Amino acid sequence: MPLYVEKKPERLITEEGVRTDGRLPHEIRPIRMTVGVLERADGSALVEWGGNRILAAVFGPREVHPKHLMLPDKALVRARYNMAPFSTPERRRPGPDRRSVELSKVIREALKPAIFVENYPGAVIDIFVEVLRSDAGTRVAGVTAASLALAHAGIAMRGLVAACAAGRVGEFVVCDPNHDEDMWGEADMPMAMMMESRKITLLQIDGPMTPEQFEEALNMAKRGIEFVYELQKEALKRPYVLVERRIRGV
Ligand code: ADP
Repeated sequence: MPLYVEKKPERLITEEGVRTDGRLPHEIRPIRMTVGVLERADGSALVEWGGNRILAAVFGPREVHPKHLMLPDKALVRARYNMAPFSTPERRRPGPDRRSVELSKVIREALKPAIFVENYPGAVIDIFVEVLRSDAGTRVAGVTAASLALAHAGIAMRGLVAACAAGRVGEFVVCDPNHDEDMWGEADMPMAMMMESRKITLLQIDGPMTPEQFEEALNMAKRGIEFVYELQKEALKRPYVLVERRIRGV
């Protein structure tokens, strides 16, 4: 007997566009970002996004082990996405599965173009994305957290990478699909962008959309990404603002 049976809600969206969590189509879930949450990592970040809790840790640039993986002219970038066994309603089997292997690659590919890898020949930069609680959209929250952790580690980057998904529920294009929408909606489209050049480094689409809906989803995801980017900058500045306030005694 399964411990937990998920039930499809009677309706995912009303005719007025109100979603199962009360949001309107263009609205994003509440997000909180904190950097410097792990003492032993060179860079770290915690992203709380809706019901997601994602911890990112960066180690490096450091010596490559095993040595034969070393690249003489640039840094090796490795990423690992992992879901904790307690991160889903039903306990999942610990360890890598096909999905986490794919998401590790997706996250690495989304971030690598932003890193000045040529600045660190022969070194490795390790990125760990640990999903402590999952609620749909863990890859975009993971990319967002990992980008913050890289910046917090002081890795030379072209700029931050921010991410957000859009989707389709019935005939509505929605921003930042929640778990019900991801599970029972028509389409899900995670996207990430390098904010300095506005280059897209991740774009996946899972489910059908018309060209018009796709265009709308692209704009919806872009607006979500811009919002996420503002929060990232704020999170990186926050520790300095607090120190400044303490120095000034305000
Ligand atoms: P993303 O988290 O990037 O949206 P998916 O679309 O693959 O990636 O997954 C959607 C959601 O489904 C996840 O955030 C998680 O809540 C749930 N999920 C994914 N894989 C599992 C699993 N093996 N066991 C239980 N829930 C899972």
